[in-house]
Amino acid sequence: MHTELGVARVFVDRCVQGLLDGELTAEDAAGAKYWTTDLQCSVIDRCLQLFGGYGYMEEYPIARMWRDARVQRIYGGTNEIMKEIVGRAVVAARVSER
Ligand SMILES: Cc1cc2nc3c(=O)[nH]c(=O)nc-3n(C[C@H](O)[C@H](O)[C@H](O)COP(=O)(O)OP(=O)(O)OC[C@H]3O[C@@H](n4cnc5c(N)ncnc54)[C@H](O)[C@@H]3O)c2cc1C
Repeated sequence: MHTELGVARVFVDRCVQGLLDGELTAEDAAGAKYWTTDLQCSVIDRCLQLFGGYGYMEEYPIARMWRDARVQRIYGGTNEIMKEIVGRAVVAARVSER
């Protein structure tokens, strides 16, 4: 988990730098959105598991975090659409290479 979060941080930092430099591509922005929100859900799910049954109880903040994390993959453009943006860019780049 520590490694996954470190990798995500490096990628997001690169995207932020790309934005500041005016070089951020739509596919990298879309990749950052879907990758980090997928990771967020995966990490928070594993954190909830640590609490066992209590992790599912409203009294524990981890339950709220788990529920709130889920919408990240929906709003801001759903992750399926983000993947479509990445996929289209990859195909377009391959086609232009020919
Ligand atoms: C709380 C909340 C706040 C929001 N705020 C904003 C906002 O401020 N600005 C804004 O622009 N939008 C906002 N949205 C919209 C959000 O970003 C999504 O674009 C929107 O929720 C998707 O439309 P839908 O819910 O009707 O799902 P649908 O478009 O009906 O999609 C349903 C499911 O099918 C999947 N799907 C759809 N098309 C494809 C495809 N071609 N390939 C694979 N899977 C596909 C989707 O990923 C989704 O999982 C918000 C949404 C929510 C829930």
